[in-house]
Amino acid sequence: MDIKIPEHLVQYCQNIVKPVSGNPFQIEKGNKGAALSPEQIRRMQEEIRRLKEERRAILLVHNYQAPEIQDVADYIGDSLGLSREAAKTDAEVICFCGVNFMGETAKILNPERIVVLPDTSAGCSLEECAPAAELLKFKTAHPELYVVSYINCSSSVKALSDVICTSGNAVRIVSNCPKDRPILFTPDQNLGSWVAKQTGREMILWPGCCYAHALFTADAVVQAKKEHPWAKVVTHPECLQEVKDVSDEVCSTEKMISYCRENSAREFIIATEANMIYRLQKECPDKLFFPLKINGYLPECRHMKKITLSKLLDTLRTLQPQIHLSKEIMDQARAPIERMLEWS
Ligand code: SF4
Repeated sequence: MDIKIPEHLVQYCQNIVKPVSGNPFQIEKGNKGAALSPEQIRRMQEEIRRLKEERRAILLVHNYQAPEIQDVADYIGDSLGLSREAAKTDAEVICFCGVNFMGETAKILNPERIVVLPDTSAGCSLEECAPAAELLKFKTAHPELYVVSYINCSSSVKALSDVICTSGNAVRIVSNCPKDRPILFTPDQNLGSWVAKQTGREMILWPGCCYAHALFTADAVVQAKKEHPWAKVVTHPECLQEVKDVSDEVCSTEKMISYCRENSAREFIIATEANMIYRLQKECPDKLFFPLKINGYLPECRHMKKITLSKLLDTLRTLQPQIHLSKEIMDQARAPIERMLEWS
């Protein structure tokens, strides 16, 4: 394939995800939830459960959310599971605890319903790496491309895509794409290269990545294996190839649960966002999970951490902030999302 990604886009993406000195997972000032006592957490959770009933709301929570938020969820899962839940719910209000593109996906699938997200400034480095205007320019220059977009992108990018995928179904989705069209995979080059390997399908990869997953290294895995020699290493496909190469399993967060449950090993090193450990420990109480750390730091996504229990409580009280998108964008973005749900 002789279609090349322009150098300015490569530079642009590198600037977005370039590591910072010190703790690369540092949560920005003002976005850290106030330290709460167990009693305060219990009371707030009680009030959240009451408000959910009163509002006829469903609370959809991503696996990377804080434990105290996971504990009040109606459904916890990865992007695929959350999209499926959002597509089938009949709740009057969808309250989404995750980052903004997830709330947008729920809104696109439920344009008539109120969709709230406790902090709509919760972004994602992958989403930032793919500005819709740049994708449009690239697509216009190469109209033969079939665009597969990872769900971690804006609604405008979804609207320009032929089909959406998640890490849980990307292999299946790419395998289903028309064989006579070159594929552009956006915005995650690490997931894209893994899918290309699994499917044998050559793809043009948008040069984006997740700033957090891209920080894991093969050396960190080797070090963790010294500390936990019997542990299996389970890695998210957003990580670099060098990390996947030294892992026992590469899979989505949801698949991590079944893999660890069914595997005879009792200990696992997990290379993804740190809150996944809470979910895994709950689902597999007889096993032990260790987060893969980077230079001693816990890998926490600074975007996901913008959602706090206090903000969630306020959101259920006020039904703000809500997700609003134009009808045109929602109509255009719905088709590739529905195609994904149909294919997976
Ligand atoms: S962990 Fe990475 S991909 Fe997931 S929301 Fe955070 S920045 Fe985006």
